[in-house]
Amino acid sequence: MPTDARDAQESRLLTAAVEASPLPTALFDADDVLRFVNRSYERLFLRGLAIPVPFADVIRHGFHGGFGVKVDSGDIEQFLSSVLRRRRGLPHRAFTTDLVDGTWLWVTEVLLDNGWLMSTMTDITVFKQEERLLRQARDSALAASNTDALTGLPNRRCILDGLKASMAACLETRQPLSVAIVDVDHFKPINDRFGHLGGDEALKCFAAYLSSVAKSLGPVGRIGGEEFLLILPGTLGQAAKAQVDAIRTLVPPALIDDQQPLALSFSAGVAEFNGEEGVSLLMRRADLALYRAKAGGRNRVEVA
Ligand code: GH3
Ligand code: MG
Ligand code: MG
Repeated sequence: MPTDARDAQESRLLTAAVEASPLPTALFDADDVLRFVNRSYERLFLRGLAIPVPFADVIRHGFHGGFGVKVDSGDIEQFLSSVLRRRRGLPHRAFTTDLVDGTWLWVTEVLLDNGWLMSTMTDITVFKQEERLLRQARDSALAASNTDALTGLPNRRCILDGLKASMAACLETRQPLSVAIVDVDHFKPINDRFGHLGGDEALKCFAAYLSSVAKSLGPVGRIGGEEFLLILPGTLGQAAKAQVDAIRTLVPPALIDDQQPLALSFSAGVAEFNGEEGVSLLMRRADLALYRAKAGGRNRVEVA
């Protein structure tokens, strides 16, 4: 077979292969006019629009017909100008784009020496969906690992991490920082009287109260059974004592099932960060102050 005839046959075969390919494929000339599309591309972006047609009109056609590339802003001309700014800037470009119908595409663009541009796309919707599910699963696992299941407050690890970060921030900004360990008084008898589930209800009520005061004072977390840590950024020890004393007088009664509202009180140990110690020493000093508050009769606040 003469060379010309063989070239022509190979070229026809290549065209037929691209035509049949499930990967949407298009060829644009140097003026960005669409010259060739395969069936997959036609189905996604043309739907009856005849070629040759400028690239920008392809996008506009889909936008007005409710298909093709998703335009989040709803402003097609602004969208196009941002797309055209990036288009043809590099000999080879790859990026993801999503369509109105939820399809995600991995787009590869090749700019040829003569200025023609070939665009090939791969449907990556399933990977995007898996990615979203994984991301959601990771986010909820992360939230669960930081949250105390009973009260919904930050758990021990989370609030102690928060304390470490607050201490570092306070060193940087030269602001004071105090902590309060808050422990419910005579909690064991509540369990004995109402059962463990009743005790749980009381803990939830108490935690909800702490959570509401946390909005104005600072982060709160549950560090043990009926023990909570309150971080008071920007607060000196004596001021922290006054603030914790103020919330101590306002503890609402616990509501356990259909029982009479049950009065609760707490004792607290406050310690002001001395700028040198680590988390465990600061916590230890607050704990010793708490011990003194308990020994002194409970329902009171002591400062380290
Ligand atoms: P004090 O005034 O000295 O703090 O006395 P207390 O009874 O509050 O303290 P103690 O440490 O003797 O008892 C705490 C009790 O809290 C013991 C434990 O069974 C109970 N507790 C710990 N975690 C939970 C929980 O998640 N739910 C319930 N219902 N009880 C818990
Ligand atoms: Mg207690
Ligand atoms: Mg305790």
